[in-house]
Formats: sequence, structure tokens, C-alpha cells
Amino acid sequence: MRTQVAIIGSGPAGLLLGRLLELACVQSVILESRSRDYVLGRIRAGVLESGTVELLERAGVAKRLHEEALVHDSCGIAFAGGQLSIDLKGLTGKSVTVYGQTEVTHDLMNARAASGAPSVYEAEDVALHDFGGTSARVSYRHQGVAHEVACDFIAGCDGFHGVSRRSIPASALKIFERVYPFGWLGLLSDVPPPWHELIYANSDRGFALASLRSPTRVRCYVQCSLEDRVENWSDEQFWDEFRRRIGDEMAARVPNAPSIEKSIAPLRSFVAEPLRFGRLFLAGDAAHIVPPTGAKGLNLAASDVLYLYESLRSFYREKSERGLDEYSPRCLKRIWRAERFSWWMTSQLHRFPDDAFGRRMQETELEYLFESRAAQQSMAENYVGLPFEPMGGS
Ligand SMILES: Cc1cc2nc3c(=O)[nH]c(=O)nc-3n(C[C@H](O)[C@H](O)[C@H](O)COP(=O)(O)OP(=O)(O)OC[C@H]3O[C@@H](n4cnc5c(N)ncnc54)[C@H](O)[C@@H]3O)c2cc1C
Repeated sequence: MRTQVAIIGSGPAGLLLGRLLELACVQSVILESRSRDYVLGRIRAGVLESGTVELLERAGVAKRLHEEALVHDSCGIAFAGGQLSIDLKGLTGKSVTVYGQTEVTHDLMNARAASGAPSVYEAEDVALHDFGGTSARVSYRHQGVAHEVACDFIAGCDGFHGVSRRSIPASALKIFERVYPFGWLGLLSDVPPPWHELIYANSDRGFALASLRSPTRVRCYVQCSLEDRVENWSDEQFWDEFRRRIGDEMAARVPNAPSIEKSIAPLRSFVAEPLRFGRLFLAGDAAHIVPPTGAKGLNLAASDVLYLYESLRSFYREKSERGLDEYSPRCLKRIWRAERFSWWMTSQLHRFPDDAFGRRMQETELEYLFESRAAQQSMAENYVGLPFEPMGGS
């Protein structure tokens, strides 16, 4: 098989890139190691920046999003018995949109299926070849048969544990990493949310987040130990702990609703530089991870994809390599800003073991946030999403 761009991974990054390229008449093949149902069953992000929504509109996959998504003009911070509502819209003119990553993936998969563009699910032993030169190859096995795709470029959109980043020689990558000494226990439940905005809580017992996915579905989290196991938490124990952390204003309204999913995710900050090696381009979680506190992971994957799409379109239309050369530095500017914000949110809202000085810093920082419009504006500006970098730096 021959194609212009071989895309590794059918998560939001790979699917969105495939869709944008298809609209620009650039061919692609998506190779995904898991089944379609497995990819759709993963419960992950849920907060979209307005720039991400605009990109989904541009990709022609935002119809259902506009019918079903919830637009939030504010988000809440609970701390020391008080609750602050950050007026995102008033402070920045922008809102955020609550629409599950599962739904984004679903809409993109449907659009790809309708277009007839090729995707291979359950592709085994995906391996990248010859991408240091002027073309590349990807090999894989499907239903026991060996296949190979010859291509101009490979887009490594296969997440943190994928094969793409690992295929680049270690000496060509610089890795920046921080692993946090705790995780998030998340619970999904089909119950109408008693809150009208996301609430991020810093309590003496640790962090909690009241979130939602739809008018009838809540997603809530509590900070937990890395050694903890989902089996250790009954639904009742989860809700009891969540009530103790989320603040008095909300606690009385929290229901004891049964879970439909519970999982534990570790928290990590990670960046691999650069995002390009020859004909291989990394995008999304393949190149960087943010702790979910700032709701940036999916949004950052979307901005990488926009930049990669623009670079490839310019290569095919104008025979220009400039966009490809600029891809990595252009991505990294926005990545590091999102890394900073996600690290800041994580640092201010969680309990860190044996850090009395850090606790005082958190108290001081959050008191300042509660009192200062300038501090709220800075947080709001980052939360709704910083602007995309234009191509050519203009
Ligand atoms: C548990 C969890 C909770 C999260 N919660 C939030 C949140 O609340 N807010 C937020 O903004 N972000 C959150 N994130 C982050 C967000 O979901 C990711 O940033 C987003 O999924 C990135 O999209 P992606 O397409 O780059 O990667 P992925 O979604 O990881 O997609 C990569 C795809 O590549 C496939 N793949 C992997 N290896 C191979 C291979 N060798 N060959 C072929 N295919 C392969 C995978 O199966 C997967 O389908 C969360 C992440 C996790 C794991």
C-alpha cells in the first residue's frame, strides 16, 4: 500500500489529523493497535477550549457537539471553607465546552468511516522504518498477515506508550519529566450533576474535582496514593471522601450514585524535544503529557494537529518545507505554556507529602487568587486556552 501520510494511532490526535488532511485532499492511512470499541470505551478528557471547538467545526465534525455539549462560562475553586467562581467569560471573553473525549472520538471516527478513508484497527507489531531519509515505511500485521505502507511522512499520534517516540534514537531526543507522588481516582456515574461549573477543591485531605460529561453524567475525582487500587474503594467510600474534600457549599448536594466506571490515573508532566525526526512527526500524548488538573491534554493534542496539518498542506500545495521545519518549535511554545499552567494548577491544589513550606505557599497563593482580579484573569486566560501560534511566526 502507498499513501502520503501514515498516521499511527486512532485517538483524537490521529483521527483529527486524518480528517483535516482528507479535507485538504491529502491521503492518509490510520494504523491503530486496539479495536474500535476499545478506543471508544476509554474514559478520558472532557473540557474543550474554544480553539479546539473551532478546529472541530473546521473539520466538519461539530454538529452533535453543538447540539449536546455544555458551554461553561465559569469554573470554581473551593478552599478553606470558601468557594470562588472564576468568571472565565467576563475575564477573557471566552468559555470552555464540556464534551467528552469519547464523543469527540466517536464523531471523528464516524466522519472517517463515511468518507471511506482507510483505517486499520487491531494492527499488530506496528514498526516504523527509514524515516530519517526522504520517504518512510510502516510495517504491521493484521489478522496474521504482514503488510507494509510506503509513505512520504509518518505522524506519530500513538500516545505516551506508543511505538513512534520509541523509534527515534534516544540520543536525538531530550526528555523533560516530573512524576507526581499521587494519582487521581476517577468515578463516572449517570446522575444529573448538582454543580453548574467544574469545581477544583484544595482540602486538608487532598484534592478533589467535581466535573461532568453531560446534563445526566458526572465525572468526579479524588487525589489518591500511587499504591492505591480501585478495588479498595466502594462507591460509598468514594462519595464519602469526595464530600469531605469538595467544600461545605457543595457537600450536602452530592448524591451516593452508583459508578459505571472507576479508574486510577498517575499524574505526570513530560515533554520530548524535538517533535520531528526526519520524516516522522510526533503529535499529542506521543510527545508530551500534562497532569489533567489544567484540562490541557486533549487541547494540546488538537493544537499540535492543527500545526502539523498546516505544515503538510503547505508542503503538498506550495512545495514548501518551511512549515515542516517550523513544526517542532511552533508546537513547543504552546506545549511549554500548557505544561506551566498544568504544573501550577497541580502544585496549588494537591497535598504533597511532608511539605509544610509548600502548604503555606498554596494557602498564600489561593488567598491571593480569591482576592485579586489580576490573578483570576491570569488563571482564566490560561484555562480557556492561549491562542494558537500562526505559521511563519507572523
Ligand atoms: C486516564 C486518563 C484521564 C485523562 N483525563 C484528562 C482530562 O480530564 N482532561 C484532559 O485534557 N486530558 C485528560 N487526559 C489526557 C487526554 O486524554 C490525552 O491528552 C489525549 O487522549 C491525547 O490524545 P492522543 O490522540 O494524542 O493520544 P491517545 O488518546 O492516547 O491515542 C493514541 C492512540 O494510539 C494507539 N496506539 C498506541 N500504541 C500504538 C501502536 N504501537 N500502534 C498503533 N497504535 C497505537 C492507542 O491505542 C490510542 O488509540 C487523560 C488521559 C488519561 C490516560
